[in-house]
Amino acid sequence: MGIRSVLLTGALLALLLPAGAAAQDDELRLFVRRNFGYSGGSQIQGSFRMEAEGPADLASVTFKVDDQVVGADSEAPFRVDFDTDDYGLGWHDLTAQGETASGRALVSAARRFEFVSAAAGWETAWRIMAPLLGVLLVVMLLVVGTSLLQLRRGRRHPAPLGARRNYGLFGGTICPKCGRPFALHLWGLNLLVGKLDRCDHCGRWSVVRALPLEQLRAAEAAERRAAQPAGEHPAESAEEQLRRQLDDSRFTDNQ
Ligand SMILES: [Zn+2]
Repeated sequence: MGIRSVLLTGALLALLLPAGAAAQDDELRLFVRRNFGYSGGSQIQGSFRMEAEGPADLASVTFKVDDQVVGADSEAPFRVDFDTDDYGLGWHDLTAQGETASGRALVSAARRFEFVSAAAGWETAWRIMAPLLGVLLVVMLLVVGTSLLQLRRGRRHPAPLGARRNYGLFGGTICPKCGRPFALHLWGLNLLVGKLDRCDHCGRWSVVRALPLEQLRAAEAAERRAAQPAGEHPAESAEEQLRRQLDDSRFTDNQ
């Protein structure tokens, strides 16, 4: 580790550690967390939890909204749930007051929040969400649109027999229905056992997996042979054919 990264790590640690956490053992820290509801910046609405952390001998904590006691807890974790709707709308100071086993009194720094109405909260949330949902919708429409285009194009221009294909990003497979190789599509449906995809040649759907390139090249070679006039290759058994395809593939790999 170079000096720079040591310095950087040190700086990061300093940021992560609460300031003076080790030195000030009598500090009472108050956290406010959402159980259910709306929380945007300092605006909150709904069910929330106040939780306090302090010295090891912390014995009890009383939680307050302004001057009103919300509840007390004498067991770690020290916390209490509250609902913003039980208090008036507007700004409130949330505090925790603790007492240690030895009788020391501790007070947390106040956390300031604006309690808003449910309608106001969700309205703000919706204002933030709506553009995101809009963008998502446009992206989805684009993906579906291109998929349909690809589907149509695939139907109109099937690859000629034996053509060398570019299998692209998703790899290629061999159609179990017609035995011809085709490139897997973006719109193929991912299932646990493979991908539900549509063959470019026969148009039928099958659950397939991407296959190694040599296997695909072998299938192309088989197509080329199938396209040649009969008699070029004397009749062979399926097993012989397969073995020859595998042999061929070894030599056509690097073409
Ligand atoms: Zn097919």
